[in-house]
Amino acid sequence: MRDKPTQPVLKLFVRAASDEPEITAGLRPRYSRYEARGYYLCPVGEAIGAYDPVENPQVATDFARLGNGSLDDLVLFAERWGLLEAYDKPGDKVSWLRDHATQVKLALDLLSGLHDEDVRRVTDALSGPVSSDTRRHLPIVLGQDEELDGCVYDLSSDPMRNADLVFESIVGANIRHLHPELVRVGPGAKFEVHHHFDTTREAIYWHVAQFAVRRGGLARCEWCRRYFVMTHGNQRYCPSDEYSESPCALQARQARFRSKRHE
Ligand SMILES: [Zn+2]
Repeated sequence: MRDKPTQPVLKLFVRAASDEPEITAGLRPRYSRYEARGYYLCPVGEAIGAYDPVENPQVATDFARLGNGSLDDLVLFAERWGLLEAYDKPGDKVSWLRDHATQVKLALDLLSGLHDEDVRRVTDALSGPVSSDTRRHLPIVLGQDEELDGCVYDLSSDPMRNADLVFESIVGANIRHLHPELVRVGPGAKFEVHHHFDTTREAIYWHVAQFAVRRGGLARCEWCRRYFVMTHGNQRYCPSDEYSESPCALQARQARFRSKRHE
């Protein structure tokens, strides 16, 4: 088994819903700036804050939005959520971050396709490059120091079963180092068993697993088609920030207005 990275700062234990095990990740540092150095995205200067990646599932949907995004997008993500793994390393490898973002997006596409029983969507997500061979070998990206894992499926078999297999393989492989930890939570001999993560990467995949287990919370914007975390019912577009209307809701409204004028 690989060496676990040392824990940053201090630990915070988060109480999940009462019928679920306690999940803990610990506080992750955020720095004032991040920049690319060689192949790595690195923190610069001092840590300016810390957050627990288990507390807010938006870390997963924000990450899935990156895909093959620009370096500027990766920097913006890091400024909000920190890096995924770099505690005792020079930084997170940029290509590794992009591979994970693509992989999280694939997992969300499969999950939403499974949820809506949309055969077309899962087939599109899994088909990949055209070839005469229907077997596909999908490499699964794990920790920066871990070998790639993999999963094999056959396009000639049931697409929904393939989607199940690939979704479980991607998410399962990335939360498999979750480990139980005995924690004293009160005076006397009051103990609980918590499940513990070492990295923000694992917390992101844990949120994806929770979208599947809870069958809710995940939504897709009707304008930009990207995923977001639904905080209230009937949300159709990416959420607004505190000060302004959702940019996607605004653009959708302007498009409706333009098409009405041309009628
Ligand atoms: Zn949107």
